Amino acid sequence: MTKSNPPNAKQILRTVQGQLECDQLLGARWLPIGPLSDLPQEDLRMNTPLDDPIIKQKRQQLDAIAQQVQKCTGCPLHQSRNHGVPGEGNPNARLVFIGEAPGAEEDAQGHPFVGRAGKLLTNIIQAMGLTREQVFIGNILKCRPPDNRDPSPTEIAACSDYLYQQLEIIEPEIIVTLGAYAARTLLDTKDPIGRLRGRIHQYFPHPLAEPIKLVATYHPAYLLRNYTHDARKRVWEDMQMVLRELGLPIPQKNK
Ligand code: SF4
Repeated sequence: MTKSNPPNAKQILRTVQGQLECDQLLGARWLPIGPLSDLPQEDLRMNTPLDDPIIKQKRQQLDAIAQQVQKCTGCPLHQSRNHGVPGEGNPNARLVFIGEAPGAEEDAQGHPFVGRAGKLLTNIIQAMGLTREQVFIGNILKCRPPDNRDPSPTEIAACSDYLYQQLEIIEPEIIVTLGAYAARTLLDTKDPIGRLRGRIHQYFPHPLAEPIKLVATYHPAYLLRNYTHDARKRVWEDMQMVLRELGLPIPQKNK
């Protein structure tokens, strides 16, 4: 995974401001910009221009996977789907959210997390100071299991390669898994979500690859069913951990 990204706008501004502050110490009487806390909290990899050649290439690769998903007959779920739901978002995202499988709304629209649970996920992303467009959102299964039943092991085995390919293309810094199935699939474990959440795991795209950090948290659908202060607090603690790992500010109003 490439880590030697060019300096982003914030880093450049910090360097310039550092020089200006140095000038002030040496006698300059006026600084033309405000304190560091006033700088835009942006990161170029979160907001990379769409015409960037690397982004274009990643977008094309993700589009090719999305087309394969729409034609896939790899497991019986293709018989009942209206739309495959390959996932969507920033092809160069630093942060990727992975859920379990599309539900009824997702199957109808072909987009991930657009039902009630999806609205809650959008709220969580916004509470982190981010937008859906800055991250990538997908699922382990790309087609809806009938009646939203749990994914079967054979369905997961048939489908998970699409997700592995997507993660290799996007190269995120952190994966947030939503619910037990996503965490167990990517971590190859049978541990319950309560034991997996609250710490940083490592996901290996392949044995020789650099690991990607993984944070497991509850699925938004679980949160909707258990909308308690305690459950929400635990999810927010997990998201604060993610923001710290990404070096992004934690919005004060949600502390
Ligand atoms: Fe293919 Fe996955 Fe859909 Fe099964 S769930 S048909 S493996 S895309």
